[in-house]
Amino acid sequence: MTLLAGSSLEVGRFRAYGPRHIDEIGDRYGLSGDAREAIRLISLVLPFRVNDYVLSQLIDWTRVPDDPIYRLVFPQRGMLSDEQERILSVLSAAGDRNRLQEAVRTIRADLNPHPSGQKELNVPTLGDVQIPGLQHKYRETVLYFPSQGQTCHAYCTYCFRWAQFVGDADLRFAAPNPDQLITYLGQHPDVSDVLITGGDPMIMTTERLRAHIEPLLAVDTVRTIRIGSKSPAYWPYRYTTDPDADDLLRLFERVVASGRTLALMAHYSHPRELETDEARTALARIRRTGAVVYCQAPLIKYVNDDVDTWARLWRLEFAAGAVPYYQFVERDTGPHAYFRVPLARSVEIFHGAFRTLPGLARTVRGPVMSATPGKVIVDGVEETPQGRYFRLRFMQARQPSLVGRPFRAHYSPTAAWLTELELDPDTPDDIMTAIDGGASRIGRWTREAAHVQS
Ligand code: SF4
Repeated sequence: MTLLAGSSLEVGRFRAYGPRHIDEIGDRYGLSGDAREAIRLISLVLPFRVNDYVLSQLIDWTRVPDDPIYRLVFPQRGMLSDEQERILSVLSAAGDRNRLQEAVRTIRADLNPHPSGQKELNVPTLGDVQIPGLQHKYRETVLYFPSQGQTCHAYCTYCFRWAQFVGDADLRFAAPNPDQLITYLGQHPDVSDVLITGGDPMIMTTERLRAHIEPLLAVDTVRTIRIGSKSPAYWPYRYTTDPDADDLLRLFERVVASGRTLALMAHYSHPRELETDEARTALARIRRTGAVVYCQAPLIKYVNDDVDTWARLWRLEFAAGAVPYYQFVERDTGPHAYFRVPLARSVEIFHGAFRTLPGLARTVRGPVMSATPGKVIVDGVEETPQGRYFRLRFMQARQPSLVGRPFRAHYSPTAAWLTELELDPDTPDDIMTAIDGGASRIGRWTREAAHVQS
């Protein structure tokens, strides 16, 4: 691969590039006028951010626009509909700021900014008052969104939390400090895991991060602190040469020394993110603190939608001492139509790659949909005298009694999300209700009644 002559770049000192820098990036890396215009238009709606490490070390510019890391971070044509692009283009050319902003708001609302009912279903309360910056979906795990960690070292074009980065206050979750979290944990001793997430909490300085983590160490019932981060992929210097990198590693050691598990939930989308010296050094330093690195990413068209990419990714993770953990299905939000991969194909890719792994690396689960009622894995496809079905199972559930329960849905070559599946009419009532509020059952009754009447 041809990496960029980044000689004039000071990779190692963080600098973020956004829509204002399209021409600077374009001039440096030879982006066409059309690609620049596409980035400019799409980034009116979806967030765009990149840094020198991603630009100079991860993207293979000889393969742009097909390069998977380019697809991962740069907005491209097709992410919005032709009509949406046309409207943005016309209003932008006309310089009509008010109508442009209105169109941007409308398009964002059409892109399902909060999938899985996050704003309505998962927000916990103290008394009758909702707590900003917390989500409590599964009994044992609370998600915590510190307000200073609501950005990332670069943005993924497929991000399911894109709504948090577009500056619309109504779309943000964030907690200014952990006070309410600590009170809430005191009232919920069954919560053993706190997932600090964002954005990317590792965007914070160590001092800030410490202010969010240390109070958790005083809560005995919290046994695992998870940190969701793509920094080992997008900015490995966070663990090596950033001014407070060593302090960060001491903080990790302190969590581990408290007797808790510190789990860095690392987001690696493509093997290339593990192939640089910086990435390998960062992982080795993290692991030396006693933290455990779990790896997860969604399966995304144009980025990692083939068997070989996943097989290489999981092998590299395993070789680095990290744990391959989840392969997710891309969520139904943002440019989902652009990135979607049918479940039927996802199952083939998962099992094709899984089969190549040594036994110890077969820790990974997938393809998994993190959907409204819980995490649903597609275990495979079965042929029966009645037809083909997807075999499904709850890995995790809002309703604990559903965890581990299998069910099935009619096979579809095109369905890419749980809501696009037709459940087997014999699905138990509690599962049916959790998934679609019983709509499938009602549909069956209606069909049967029509049949009886006809
Ligand atoms: S790193 Fe995570 S939160 Fe940040 S843009 Fe990527 S997917 Fe979204």
